[in-house]
Amino acid sequence: MKSKSENSFPNSRLLKWYDGVKRDLPWRDTQDPYYIWLSEIILQQTRVDQGMPYYERFVETFPTVHDLANASEDEVLKLWEGLGYYSRARNLHATAKHVSQNLKGEFPNTHSGLLELKGVGPYTAAAIGSIAFNLPVAAVDGNVYRVLARYYGITESIDDTSTKKQIGELAQSILDTERSGDHNQAMMELGAMVCTPKQPDCKACPLQENCVAFRQEIQSELPVRTKKTKVRNRYFYYAVHFVDGQVPIHRRGEGDIWQGLYEFPLFESEKKLNEKQILELIEVSESDVVESISEEFKHVLSHQRIYSRFVLVKSDSRPNVKGKWVSVADLRSFAFPRLINRYLERSNLVIEGEVSNI
Ligand code: SF4
Repeated sequence: MKSKSENSFPNSRLLKWYDGVKRDLPWRDTQDPYYIWLSEIILQQTRVDQGMPYYERFVETFPTVHDLANASEDEVLKLWEGLGYYSRARNLHATAKHVSQNLKGEFPNTHSGLLELKGVGPYTAAAIGSIAFNLPVAAVDGNVYRVLARYYGITESIDDTSTKKQIGELAQSILDTERSGDHNQAMMELGAMVCTPKQPDCKACPLQENCVAFRQEIQSELPVRTKKTKVRNRYFYYAVHFVDGQVPIHRRGEGDIWQGLYEFPLFESEKKLNEKQILELIEVSESDVVESISEEFKHVLSHQRIYSRFVLVKSDSRPNVKGKWVSVADLRSFAFPRLINRYLERSNLVIEGEVSNI
């Protein structure tokens, strides 16, 4: 492993660059661990521009960790709606309750203490710890792997545990412990804004002088990746039963995507179906009137691609389906996956309050 003096990492240039260009983000004005934790959880797997309005809504609705702890899960999921990876929202709520009830509202101020919180892994613990408490721990995420693999010209795959370990040790060895939080944020900012996956802006980079990838013009080849994510296709067919201005919905259970969110009665198929097959699958009775079968909605998750169609069925009596019957005018108060919201927006079902042709 390279030592700090050997690797000649230009820390002061990096921090000077960061001080000059850093984006004015609301969680950068505070050292309150509650706000920093909130921002870090929201920004996991989410771009800053997408996460910002959610952060602002959470801070406004739940100004303290106690407010968040006292909220219902439905309230939290509703506020999180559209951000995806809903386990983050459930962990967020569980952690808020734990901190509020068991830790008197105080977040742990050690790396190991932070790691014990639900939904907080090594990266997030290092980010929160360094920013809120100046703990000298390097935060290493995908951005940092990329920057350091390029800077040091690391040609082993960053999907290998040994390479990850090597880069983690390098990141720790170059950490500016006087300003740990700023250093970590500077590395992430650099990865997000300059040393981007495609076409890095090396001209604007404070690390350019000694960067191996830049010198050898191999930026596009680094970092090396070997693992391909396996993506599974799934086919969801929803039966939207409409009876006297109401439709049935239920909460999704554990062990699959979208836990805790609501949906219409779902029929999943292993393959794509045509309209006739869909109607057979969702068991439409003879007295039902099929108002419409929607176009296909596609929803891409990290390991799954969901293809979905919605069948709007008008009936005189309620079929025996699980869940509760709610007025279409009230649908907006429930948290649905983005896929279903897209259907609702497109179908005008909620706006009209009655069956509309799609
Ligand atoms: Fe990345 Fe280019 Fe900077 Fe090297 S010089 S760290 S490749 S942006």
